[in-house]
Amino acid sequence: SNEQLLMTTKEVRATLSDLDKKHIIHPVASPKRHVSQGPKIIFSEGKGIHVKDINEQVFIDGVSMLWNVNVGHGKKELAQIAHNQMSQMAYSSTFYGYANEPAIRLAEKIASLTPGDLDTIFYTSGGSESNDTAIKLSRFYWQLNGFSNKKKIISLKRGYHGVTVSAQRATGIDAFRNFSGSADPEIFNAKAHLTECELGDKSHPEYPGCIRSMIEEMGSDQVAAVIIEPIQGAGGVHVPPEGYLKAVRQLCDEYNILLIADEVICGFGRTGKMFGVDHWEITPDLMCIAKGITSGYIPLGGVVMNNRVAGTIKEYNDILPHGFTYSGHPTACAVGLKNIEIVEREGLVENAHQMGKELVKGFKYLGDKHEFFTNPRTVGLLAGFDLKKDPSLNVPFDQSTQAAVSIVEECYQRGLLIRCFDFEPGMNIVAIAPPLIIQKEEVETIISIVDDALSVFSKKLKG
Ligand code: PMP
Repeated sequence: SNEQLLMTTKEVRATLSDLDKKHIIHPVASPKRHVSQGPKIIFSEGKGIHVKDINEQVFIDGVSMLWNVNVGHGKKELAQIAHNQMSQMAYSSTFYGYANEPAIRLAEKIASLTPGDLDTIFYTSGGSESNDTAIKLSRFYWQLNGFSNKKKIISLKRGYHGVTVSAQRATGIDAFRNFSGSADPEIFNAKAHLTECELGDKSHPEYPGCIRSMIEEMGSDQVAAVIIEPIQGAGGVHVPPEGYLKAVRQLCDEYNILLIADEVICGFGRTGKMFGVDHWEITPDLMCIAKGITSGYIPLGGVVMNNRVAGTIKEYNDILPHGFTYSGHPTACAVGLKNIEIVEREGLVENAHQMGKELVKGFKYLGDKHEFFTNPRTVGLLAGFDLKKDPSLNVPFDQSTQAAVSIVEECYQRGLLIRCFDFEPGMNIVAIAPPLIIQKEEVETIISIVDDALSVFSKKLKG
């Protein structure tokens, strides 16, 4: 009977929950709370923008899991291509000059999509590995050119670049940056997104914190690269002001410093253009990619280099002592290639752009209706907003209010998974980044759930 079936599902859940608590430490979760409460959701299935848990409860995946499931869940074509490739050959290394066709074909495809002469890739298994690789290759580039002192790296506050040694230090979120000590002392955070400052206005109050003054203080002969996300993601969805990225590009040229763009979230259509930098028409020297390259169906990442960097490295005659077992994994590359085919065939970059406009409309509605809703930003389907006690006077909520956490929880209760950021005092940011296949009515559903969540929050606040 149904009841029996339900009981068994509940029992299965309880068993899995106990096993999880016993055997797994989860990333970016409170270990202690996890041991007492167990997993919040145990996922079992996904289709389109929806995911299901083992109790058959359905959720809208409002942030594409970790901003990566761009083509949506349940694309059989991707499973099929993985099956085919694995059946043909389980794995082959790309060390020692070995190669495989999917890795070669995907490299050519990526070169054709990336701007300018970003034509050569070094494969990794994810975003952190890509950023560590980009940082290492930048320093190596300068060594090869006889500038061994050029090894400092500048990144931005609120930037997120991952958790491997150098990526961790490039990250500008203190908890991540400082976790467990840190071993790359040559990486520094500059204050972010201060156009006037970056454009060289020394009278700007934030000037001493900006990239230019950092370079001048350190001496440009010490600096290897600047690494930035075109739009900051995990720092709370921060869109740079107009002219900012161009100014950073010019700054790097002026001081002979490499520019690394971390496109791990922005890449492959998320922002309504193929890459984040395409919005501001700049070309970095190195571009880090991951996530959207396979829409999360299988791990894959890479660093795409321009001819300046790749050309120098290609002159190196000794063995390059860098590489991951899964650099250029044939299955991952075959899935990546098919994933890009889907993105192009289904017009998902354009859809992200169009659906972004629907999100803008929805945010306008929410902003007009809810006094706490403020500072909406939307670039394609990378979107966020702030919650403030009094937006007009820029008064934040007290920490104890847990404003963003409450909204996320209310949305969860209503079948919508979204994310929030509150890692700085007074910060209450909510992020929305659904799969790029989303349709207008589904955007409206998301907005109406957030609308309800905000209403309930307001009511509770006012007692
Ligand atoms: N860079 C950016 C911009 C990211 O958002 C992330 C992951 N959220 C990373 C790097 C790290 O990627 P990974 O978790 O795949 O190592």
